[in-house]
Amino acid sequence: MQKVEFDEERCKGCELCIDACPRNVLALAEHLNSKGFRPATVVNESQCTSCAFCAWMCPDVAIVVRREEKKHA
Ligand code: SF4
Ligand code: SF4
Repeated sequence: MQKVEFDEERCKGCELCIDACPRNVLALAEHLNSKGFRPATVVNESQCTSCAFCAWMCPDVAIVVRREEKKHA
C-alpha cells in the first residue's frame, strides 16, 4: 500500500509539500488535474518515513499519510 496518497483534484501545485519533505520523496507530476494544475505526486517512495510533514503543510488537505500498523506479538 502506498504510504502517501494525494487527492489530485484538491491539489493546486503550490509545492509546499515538496519543500516540506526532508527526504525528497515528492515532485510535481507531468500531467494536469481538471483545474489545470500539475498535482504533487510520489516519485521516491522507498525514502518515505511516513513522517507526515507533507500532510501537515498542505493548505488544501490533499494528502493522506498511512503508517504501517505495528503488529503485536
Ligand atoms: S511522509 Fe514525510 S518522508 Fe514521506 S513524503 Fe511526506 S514529508 Fe516526505
Ligand atoms: S501542499 Fe497540497 S496543494 Fe500544495 S502541492 Fe502539495 S498536495 Fe498540492
